[in-house]
Amino acid sequence: MQECRSEEAYNIGLLKRDLLNPAPSPFAPRLSIVVPIGKLALRHSTTHLAAMSTFIEHASQPEASRDVGAAIRRGLAGRCPHCGTGRLFGRFLKVVPACATCAERLDLHRADDLPAYLVILIVGHVVVGAMLAFETFDTFSTSAQMFIWPTLTLVLALLLLQPVKGAIIALQWALHMHGFGAPHPLEHE
Ligand SMILES: [Zn+2]
Repeated sequence: MQECRSEEAYNIGLLKRDLLNPAPSPFAPRLSIVVPIGKLALRHSTTHLAAMSTFIEHASQPEASRDVGAAIRRGLAGRCPHCGTGRLFGRFLKVVPACATCAERLDLHRADDLPAYLVILIVGHVVVGAMLAFETFDTFSTSAQMFIWPTLTLVLALLLLQPVKGAIIALQWALHMHGFGAPHPLEHE
């Protein structure tokens, strides 16, 4: 009985020792890495949540309607779709970051290849139509046509690229498309 009690006391003593001085966990050293990462993730998720709430708040508000026709006319003329005064292009097809007159951001467009596709469509129809018409009446010699049609194609393409790109940017601006709409939540960073 005595022995049994002492063994019990010994076991309780061991338990107390283990509870008070736990053996170092194999994961313990990794906590020094895990905790800062967790804190960082928490801070980032808080930032994202704040940005997301701003985004939802912004998106839930009806955006001011813009005159699409007026904007496209201004874009065709190479002017800022917002005020119609400032220049839309710095160089041939290089859009200025913001309007020099009204400070409206203009580099948020996503025109990409659409101006080129539209120019090909327009110039193709004009030049092929003209070629067929002149071929019907047999107006020009073959050697003259070999000069006229490529030159006309090149000149028309160069003349149309800037106004077409301007009109597309103005259309995107007027419809609050892409970067012209509500700011993306991740763009706050
Ligand atoms: Zn402007």
